[in-house]
Amino acid sequence: MKIAVICTGTELLKGSAVNTNMAFLGRELCAAGIPAVLELTVGDHPSEIVSALSFALRSADTVILSGGLGPTDDDLTLDVAARFFGVELVEDKVLRNKILWFWKCRHQGPCPKAQFRQARVPVNGSYIPNPVGSASGLEFSAEFDSVLRRIYLLPGPPREFEPMVKNELMPRLRGIAENKVFTSGFMVFAGESSVFPPIKKLLADSVVEVACAAGAGGVRMFFSGSNDEAVESAVKKAYDSVEYLKLPVGKFDVCEELLDILAKKSLHLGCAESCTGGMVADKIVALPGASKVFNGGIIAYANEVKKAQLGVSEEILSSVGAVSEECAAAMARGCCEHLKCECAVATTGIAGPDGGTAEKPVGLVYIAAVCNEKCVVRELRAYGDRRAVRERASAMALQLMYEVLTEQDV
Ligand code: ATP
Ligand code: MG
Repeated sequence: MKIAVICTGTELLKGSAVNTNMAFLGRELCAAGIPAVLELTVGDHPSEIVSALSFALRSADTVILSGGLGPTDDDLTLDVAARFFGVELVEDKVLRNKILWFWKCRHQGPCPKAQFRQARVPVNGSYIPNPVGSASGLEFSAEFDSVLRRIYLLPGPPREFEPMVKNELMPRLRGIAENKVFTSGFMVFAGESSVFPPIKKLLADSVVEVACAAGAGGVRMFFSGSNDEAVESAVKKAYDSVEYLKLPVGKFDVCEELLDILAKKSLHLGCAESCTGGMVADKIVALPGASKVFNGGIIAYANEVKKAQLGVSEEILSSVGAVSEECAAAMARGCCEHLKCECAVATTGIAGPDGGTAEKPVGLVYIAAVCNEKCVVRELRAYGDRRAVRERASAMALQLMYEVLTEQDV
């Protein structure tokens, strides 16, 4: 099975919406062993959608389209796809009633005729239920270049698209997929150039494909192939060869690991953030179940707040300054005390673009992690713009807390 994805939406090309659908679908397909071979993003124009279909069908037998199934004039995907494959559309009674019911629940007055455009289904196809929106998904098979192709159409809004992919599309694809690709991997707290080339060399004779994705926190290594045993043994060989700090095989999110360890050890965490301004807390709170171990965060940007909310002494601030090892440690300790937690991370640094000096340049950040009596402080010299510095500092804060909790900090 070769899958191509076409995302429609002029807003995706203009940058007014980010294509999160592809990221979500890509992860789901990869986890199911049927990664997409191609993705195209096009505006809401019939000629562009037709070009994308023609191009996608050169390399794929299955095409998933997202967006453009609504009732408005710019929702053209179904009509264009139906014309392209020469399939007829007929109104489905069940869908007509659903649309009427949806309209009545949300509006007063009669349902406009345009709404019923969403009740049409290809004669040789069927609809894919959408419990949260009025536009249903659609699936049909059609011949192109004498080969039978499978086409799936899904609505664009992510809150509709994501559950439909998970609950409807993936079970359908898993049921028919052959030649699955197995993927496994791990996350390393180091730069891409230190990790990827040696692993590539180590596995030069292997049939397993090696890929990596670098981020602010480190590099995620992925290994894939059609033979699961070959993939597993390549992962083991690569994992054992890496001497940098790393997460266990199959784990890619340090935050998830942190929450897990804190819960197992019955510990609670707090954050005291200056230059990261809540980014560390945001990453923690993004995960379900954070409330079991996360007490809260204090954004102590001004020195007055560092003093009043975290108990940082005037002496530290006037002698070594807010961007210092001492201040980071005092912030983390003060956080434990004020938020009544055993563990805390603190960040204080110069995110730029202004405020740097020869002694304390932009990108200099001190990060402290405390767990009961233990306190470790690390100096980070991050590169890049304000966002890059703050991203790197947040990632390092989570990494340092992980190191302290797993006692790998020496
Ligand atoms: P509607 O009835 O809302 O028009 P639709 O099925 O036609 O539904 P679209 O018009 O494609 O969906 O998209 C509606 C909303 O979903 C827009 O806000 C758009 O920005 C968002 N959206 C569409 N495609 C994507 C995508 N690939 N990633 C993230 N958001 C998207
Ligand atoms: Mg639309």
